Amino acid sequence: MTERERRLVVVSNRLPFVLSPGPDGGLVSRPGSGGLVTALLPVLRDRGGVWVGWPGITDHTEAVDAALASATGKAGYHLAPVALTAEDQAGFYHGFSNEVLWPLFHDLQSLCNFDPVYWRSYCEVNHKYAQVILSETYKDDFVWVHDYQLLLLAAELRRAGVTSPLAFFLHIPFPPLDIYLKLPWRFTLLRALLEYDLIGFQTLRDQRNFMHCVRTLIDDVSISHRSSQIHMPDGRQVRVGSFPIGIDAAAFQRQARSPAVIAAADTLRAELPNRELILGVDRLDYTKGIPLRLEAFRVALRQFPDLQERVTLIQVVVPSRDDIPQYRDLKLRIEQLVGEINGEFTRPGGWVPIHYVYRALDRLDLVAYYRAAHIALVTPLKDGMNLVAKEFCACSVDSDGVLILSEFAGAAAQLQHGALLVNPYDLEGTAEAIHRACAMPAAERRRRMQLLRRAVNRQSVFRWVNGFLEAAIASDLDAFPLPDDYLPSAEAEHAYWDTELA
Ligand code: UDP
Repeated sequence: MTERERRLVVVSNRLPFVLSPGPDGGLVSRPGSGGLVTALLPVLRDRGGVWVGWPGITDHTEAVDAALASATGKAGYHLAPVALTAEDQAGFYHGFSNEVLWPLFHDLQSLCNFDPVYWRSYCEVNHKYAQVILSETYKDDFVWVHDYQLLLLAAELRRAGVTSPLAFFLHIPFPPLDIYLKLPWRFTLLRALLEYDLIGFQTLRDQRNFMHCVRTLIDDVSISHRSSQIHMPDGRQVRVGSFPIGIDAAAFQRQARSPAVIAAADTLRAELPNRELILGVDRLDYTKGIPLRLEAFRVALRQFPDLQERVTLIQVVVPSRDDIPQYRDLKLRIEQLVGEINGEFTRPGGWVPIHYVYRALDRLDLVAYYRAAHIALVTPLKDGMNLVAKEFCACSVDSDGVLILSEFAGAAAQLQHGALLVNPYDLEGTAEAIHRACAMPAAERRRRMQLLRRAVNRQSVFRWVNGFLEAAIASDLDAFPLPDDYLPSAEAEHAYWDTELA
């Protein structure tokens, strides 16, 4: 194949289209969402290629193939579904991915369920993804695999004889050595990762953790002094880099300025007049630090009584993974804390300190919340990046919002100069940051938010794709440059949410 014909093959847990029952008994598809989809579909359209992933339905029928074929039409790329059974989903996705890798990689090893059955299922399902890739790709395709569900994929492909370059990006954190060591399959997994040729992390923190694990646990490799290259015994080089993912900031900004959002934001502010609105938006997940955040808010109300009747915390929790016991417990804990705090502080005049929203918002409502809020309280215990923090900044079009951000969010590396950084475990420190944000003079708010907005605009999701592919080219991985007109496409603007994918 010529360089011009080389295609992109994207592999992720889920396909970028969501299938649902249609009117005629068949299935209809709609584009999934999330930055990954927004950023990669234009490249696929331009280059041609394949997106490999699970279609979201365990009964694999002809209707699935038909719906996927009609989803892409003549777009120039196609979707290759991986057929998974309900048992696969239970062991591979809910089990190993979300009860082992997810908590461990977020430094919460006490929440892990190291069930060996999960591990076997994870191996089998990675094998299934590999089989689909083998049947759908040409030798010269550039294969880019995404995220923690597919750590073993390169090893599966090598076992099947694939020698072409394979690239990988980890969307979640990589843990420090002493935490990674707890994993019963630590050697197999690390060796499997080294079958990729380019490994991307969100931050330098994750990259360093990974290198430390490799240096300590794998004895037949050598590492270049700048820690970005691993020399394998067979002569191969594995490149490692950090590529912080961004958002389509321009699309958020445009929508935040739209009449519909302005009207919705005005309504929100009018319903809570004369209050500083503090916003939390999170998927229901123990990594997001919601209970500690609520406790810090309670400390703030107790220690700074001037905040009472002046601030309202709007906490949006998006339902997620509620078939896992820890998530159900978390929901109860959040509801209990909201009840306790509202019970302690609600006043007859109508002030209720916490407004709790437990549902997914549509995009217009989400952007209206971002625009209406004066302060965003983003305090994960650990997070690969945290896009909510970036989206809030993009939507703060009047540059008057304040971002309070956990030091342990990947986003802190880029946003540290404009945000008020907090340690989410430090209740009094977080309470003081809330107080400080409420009292912050307008000029300081503006100066800080302008810094934040510049950082978010500079590091868009499009630049992230570009950076990763450029690194692949620089590593002689047979990747390809992006088209000159590689720009946010208007049709991708609706796409913004799919936690299953990323
Ligand atoms: N989000 C959404 N609907 C909601 C609330 C949030 O689509 O009701 C989106 C939000 O726009 C953001 C994503 O969910 O893009 C959350 O990403 P983040 O990196 O903050 O956390 P994750 O859930 O991926 O761990």
